[in-house]
Amino acid sequence: MLVLDGKEVSGKVRASLVPRIEAFKARNERPPHLTVVIVGDDKASHVYVRNKKIACEKVGMTSTIHSLPADITQNELNELLETLNQDDAVDGILVQFPLPAHLSSHEVLKTVSPEKDADGLTYTSLGYFFAGQPTVRPCTPEGVMTILKHFNINVEGMRAVVVGRSNIVGKPMAHMLTEANATVTLCHSKTKNLSEYTKQADLVVVAAGKARLLGKDDFKKDAVVIDVGMHGTGNNGKLCGDVRFEELQGWAKAATPVPGGVGPMTITTLLQNTCLLAEKRALR
Ligand code: NAP
Repeated sequence: MLVLDGKEVSGKVRASLVPRIEAFKARNERPPHLTVVIVGDDKASHVYVRNKKIACEKVGMTSTIHSLPADITQNELNELLETLNQDDAVDGILVQFPLPAHLSSHEVLKTVSPEKDADGLTYTSLGYFFAGQPTVRPCTPEGVMTILKHFNINVEGMRAVVVGRSNIVGKPMAHMLTEANATVTLCHSKTKNLSEYTKQADLVVVAAGKARLLGKDDFKKDAVVIDVGMHGTGNNGKLCGDVRFEELQGWAKAATPVPGGVGPMTITTLLQNTCLLAEKRALR
């Protein structure tokens, strides 16, 4: 089985960003800048945010973290986002989800300027994306497409199943695979006999958010399996995905591990998006 090493792909893509960032710096007297907004003290979210900042700095970009108290109001959060929208030194804005229950991600996605939408999730960006127009694209599914391309896995004509239909992962993933000429089935929690679908697929992308949900018996021989899931405690306290990766050896043709598969590519796509947004704004 070919292990689809996301760290390897990430390294290559991040190295290709360095000269772009240098060129941007030479023209604009500063590197591209990503601002990350995090609300509350969820430990895992803080780790993700710190990793994003470190990743920015490693490729020569700068990054600021706005860490806000869990009881901040929607108005206060919106005001901060409006300030960041207006700040010429900020190229990308990312609000770390999930938010505390009293805050609305819908409000956030309406407030962040599409010109600074590093996550590719504002409704304007998604509108362009689903209409097939150039735009920043949602980081996680775009990262998956980059992994497939890197390992020369051509999905054209493949029967693909995506498990999960969130706006962040499942829906844009299904659209990207359709764009790449796969024939796509989108499954979700109300799908009856999920395994019947996944077992017929040449390619399965699993983004259900359920630790170790699928294993060898759910895939056909020589399937390509992409595991988007990320769980801190699903496998005796070890980080694991939605797939029982250890069962796939000798069965799947290729699969992403967790950790070290899709996760690093999500951050890498965020860096690419921020760089692109900075370059676009600088041209105006
Ligand atoms: P989400 O918003 O919770 O969506 C989960 C989706 O899976 C929903 O559409 C849900 O169906 C479906 N689902 C849940 N249980 C299912 C089951 N038993 N069978 C079939 N479908 C099922 O999650 P998300 O934001 O898309 O994230 C999914 C996973 O990816 C999470 O583990 C998350 O931590 C991880 N993630 C990883 C990265 C990364 O960089 N690696 C990035 C983003 C997310 P309904 O619509 O019917 O509820």
